[in-house]
Amino acid sequence: MGIAVVTGGGRGIGAAIATRLERDGHRVHRLDQLPGEGVITCDVTDPAAVERVASRIAADGPVEILVNNAGHWRFGPLEDVSPADFRAVIDVNLMGTFHCTQAFGRSMIAAGRGSIVNIVSIAAYRANPMVGAYSPSKAAVLALTEQTALEWGPRGIRCNAVGPGLVPTPGTGAVYDDPRVREVRAGAVPLRRLGTPDDVAEVVAFFASDRAGYVNGQVVYVDGGLSKGLMTLLPRPADVPGPKLADRDGGAS
Ligand code: NDP
Repeated sequence: MGIAVVTGGGRGIGAAIATRLERDGHRVHRLDQLPGEGVITCDVTDPAAVERVASRIAADGPVEILVNNAGHWRFGPLEDVSPADFRAVIDVNLMGTFHCTQAFGRSMIAAGRGSIVNIVSIAAYRANPMVGAYSPSKAAVLALTEQTALEWGPRGIRCNAVGPGLVPTPGTGAVYDDPRVREVRAGAVPLRRLGTPDDVAEVVAFFASDRAGYVNGQVVYVDGGLSKGLMTLLPRPADVPGPKLADRDGGAS
């Protein structure tokens, strides 16, 4: 087992991914913006900082796994989003993924093997309103995932994406503080529960491993089926079998 790097690994989904990869025997480096125990401080929007950390880590051996998980979002209606706020989200989600892919990818290219997993979102293909640049940034990361898979596949490097659904984390905490919001959101998911960071980490670990050795350029949404729920939005009369409005919120309405 080799060296793995998880960005945004200090908390939330990133911390669960790092722990899961450690369980598989990898030596995991957790990169995060703020200092913390067991964390390498590194702002992924700063290409020089990423390069410095990458060459320090690569001195110990080739990086085999990179998980681009660090993410950022800002709420606001499109007409009010400032260019600075729009750019801040693009900077972390897209540019951060690019910087890390390039810097850690160098060590993979030299070794002729590696696995990159980019954390996207349902919002990458179903726009999430009122969250500024979040959807455009994640759509771009999905495109970058496919580009990386095509350009670096011939060099032994796979690149795939994982899209979490509704996962309470420190970052999304404010949304889920209201128990009624939790209940209604869980009710909208075909599996009738919210996701956990461990649900996401399990699929990332699969993509990262040799068990997914022939999987390249793919995306899996770990969302309990939420993103496939379009037809559940349509109410049916009581005497017709199928989804009812009440099914959408677990019968809470
Ligand atoms: P959290 O905010 O809980 O964790 C994200 C981590 O990324 C934080 O530790 C954060 O550090 C770090 N980070 C942010 N900006 C930078 C940066 N510039 N450089 C280094 N690290 C940075 O979020 P989640 O765990 O919920 O999200 C993880 C990923 O999953 C994100 O990419 C998110 O978009 C994606 N996702 C999450 C969903 C969910 O429901 N939770 C749904 C869909 C996708 P700091 O606290 O210092 O900012």
